[in-house]
Amino acid sequence: MKKINHIHISIDKKLCKGVDGCGLCIHVCPKEVYKIADSLTDKGIKPPEPVNIDQCSGCMLCMMYCPDFSIVVEVEK
Ligand code: SF4
Ligand code: SF4
Repeated sequence: MKKINHIHISIDKKLCKGVDGCGLCIHVCPKEVYKIADSLTDKGIKPPEPVNIDQCSGCMLCMMYCPDFSIVVEVEK
């Protein structure tokens, strides 16, 4: 099995339309990495928060499915 050393997930909160109106990233993630943010951004949305990054497999599904290109997953091998 390939070992993944380091994963970095960044969310562009200005691009995200909010989990309430979208939430695709949370639905497609097989590892339950994301939760909904507790507070609203300046734009009035609740973006996803990657809280279980240690569970992330680096599959990139969240990045590929996000319709607003808000997510970047970087995997250092
Ligand atoms: S890369 Fe895959 S496992 Fe990691 S947060 Fe995105 S969907 Fe979940
Ligand atoms: S899929 Fe993209 S736009 Fe939709 S809630 Fe997730 S980060 Fe935001």
